[in-house]
Amino acid sequence: MRRKLVAGNWKMHGTRDMALSLVRDIAAKQPDGTEVVVFPPFPYLDPLIRAHGDVLGFGGQDVSEHDQPGAWTGEISAAMLEDIGCAWALVGHSERRQHHHEGNAQVAAKFAAARQAGLLPMLCVGETKEQRDAGCTEAVLTEQLSAVIEAAGIEAFRDAVVAYEPIWAIGTGTTATPEQVQQAHSFIRSLLAAGDAKISGLTRVLYGGSVKPANAAVLFAQADVDGGLIGGASLTADDFLAICAAAQSCA
Ligand code: PEP
Repeated sequence: MRRKLVAGNWKMHGTRDMALSLVRDIAAKQPDGTEVVVFPPFPYLDPLIRAHGDVLGFGGQDVSEHDQPGAWTGEISAAMLEDIGCAWALVGHSERRQHHHEGNAQVAAKFAAARQAGLLPMLCVGETKEQRDAGCTEAVLTEQLSAVIEAAGIEAFRDAVVAYEPIWAIGTGTTATPEQVQQAHSFIRSLLAAGDAKISGLTRVLYGGSVKPANAAVLFAQADVDGGLIGGASLTADDFLAICAAAQSCA
């Protein structure tokens, strides 16, 4: 039985005060049976973990593929994230792929670096609207996932999480239909199963892309959907908590 997981990706939003108050509200009211993980901006990780790391999981929105120590100005190593109490690292978010030109090989190296430092990677994959319209969704997912499986090995997916995030649904208000989501998730699971059927059955596959309180339950009720990666709606405690409650109701 895979435990539902809801993760909030705050991206580059907020202030220290806002971060502390948002996480305080989430920590106080999160439902019991659902795992909740927060990806705040880097500067707020340490105070948030000190305050609520006993109740919530925390992670970096990105992680360097390079080992420390090293001359990598501006980079944050996986070991540093682990050192301050992070359990997670988000890798391969479409905004990193798109705006920072991260390719599959670099994403795979980040996944492996996170794993090596003892972090749980949350690997984002997903197609553009053009790729979906051209019927290439499965080819894109295969390329993105295979690159990581080949580089890090299928064993590295034990406890890791895959987040299916169709790019056309991120921050657009257009959510993939439950059928589209289930189809993509089941395909992702089949790719993992080709490496190891047991690991495939245990790996949690989250959906991300304009999840809101109104649509969360129907998405999370799909057989291969184990929760969500939430952007915009994770910046409001009530909305995020309502999404966590929806996950709990589908557990
Ligand atoms: C995201 O940024 O990963 C995301 C899913 O954003 P949103 O929920 O706003 O679409």
